[in-house]
Amino acid sequence: MKDATKCLHSGYSPKNTEPRVMPIVQSTTYVYDSTDDVAAVFDEPTKSLIYSRFANPTVMAVENKIADLEGGVGAMCTTSGQAANLLAILNICNAGDSFISTTQIYGGTVNLFAFTLKKLGIECIFVGHDATDEEIHAAFKPNTKAVFGETLANPALTVFDIERYANIAHAHGVPLIVDNTFATPILCKPFEFGADIVTHSTSKYMDGHALQIGGVIVDSGNFNWDNGNFPELVEPDPSYHGLSYTKTYGKQAYILKARMQLMRDFGCYPAAHSAFLLNLGLETLPVRMKQYCENALTVAKYLESNDKVESVMYPALESNESYPLAKKYLKGCSGVITFVIKGGKENAVKFMDSLKLASNEVHVADIRTCVLHPASETHRQLTDEQLEAAGINSGMVRFSVGLEDINDILDDLKQAFANVK
Ligand SMILES: *Cc1c(COP(=O)(O)O)cnc(C)c1O
Repeated sequence: MKDATKCLHSGYSPKNTEPRVMPIVQSTTYVYDSTDDVAAVFDEPTKSLIYSRFANPTVMAVENKIADLEGGVGAMCTTSGQAANLLAILNICNAGDSFISTTQIYGGTVNLFAFTLKKLGIECIFVGHDATDEEIHAAFKPNTKAVFGETLANPALTVFDIERYANIAHAHGVPLIVDNTFATPILCKPFEFGADIVTHSTSKYMDGHALQIGGVIVDSGNFNWDNGNFPELVEPDPSYHGLSYTKTYGKQAYILKARMQLMRDFGCYPAAHSAFLLNLGLETLPVRMKQYCENALTVAKYLESNDKVESVMYPALESNESYPLAKKYLKGCSGVITFVIKGGKENAVKFMDSLKLASNEVHVADIRTCVLHPASETHRQLTDEQLEAAGINSGMVRFSVGLEDINDILDDLKQAFANVK
């Protein structure tokens, strides 16, 4: 099946007389005929359902759809994108370990990596997004367990060189984790370029309608965990009666460990109703992504020709430094554009407050056009050095182009610019 078909049909195939639409299984638990039957499920938890803290049929249908779209062997939904990135790292890093991340990533992820994981004894080693191969190799320590980057960085909108980072990670025997939130599998499939694990904030384009927060981790099944660096995936897990994830689950070792061990203990699993809404978003994802890309390219070209704009970051523009990488990795650059307005923060704020159609909101990838000032909002907790490393300037505006008529979006921009000196 091609993507558009998978979006409608993967994950749920009703049999004779069953509902056409994926049902919402709103139940915390599942019944069994006997105590022995329940005991058997604890021995082999992937065979049936135990409890909705870590598995539910509605959520699993969506997980299978997303795994299919990314070309992976399995997926696990979480209650937020933050939880997805947290568990993706915790699944392979313990206190005393480190991992490498590029600096051009989402501000919330910077906080998680630089501060909260540090408290748990896990060090994040940041490398600049334009680091050379030698610099990245040099950042590795004997305890480094993963490499992390964002396909299309939020909000810097640089394109991550997936293949280059995958080769470097693999040379050190560790996986590459890619946060594919802005691209979605419709615009980029990181596994095709060597990534091993993909994460998403489904709160963005996948949900698409600004209805609910969610996340997902997808496993390519390609990484060889039995290479000496990941004994927790290979050796018996004392918290699961001595089970070895690689021996028992083969290619699905990583994603089933995340579910059976981390989701069991952290319990950040979405409700069935949330998964149902996410599925509605996924059904129309290909149509929406195409239109977002088209609208955003028109807006980006308009901004580029506007003399009140200092610079525009949209990798589909030929003038953009990431253009060659965008051509290689992406079928389109999503609806998000960042640009720097002349006159710094004062003009950025004046411009944003003058917009009438576009709403000022702490969100991105909404179906409605929305706008945000990263330096004073999403990235407010970052230091000046971190802001600079994340590619954020005080005159920077993050403009998330929606699916309104393009002429209305352009008219709104024009009238707002008229208010700026
Ligand atoms: C929003 C976002 C996150 C965090 O996701 P939430 O669903 O808000 O928790 C992580 N990564 C990227 C790239 C994001 O845009």
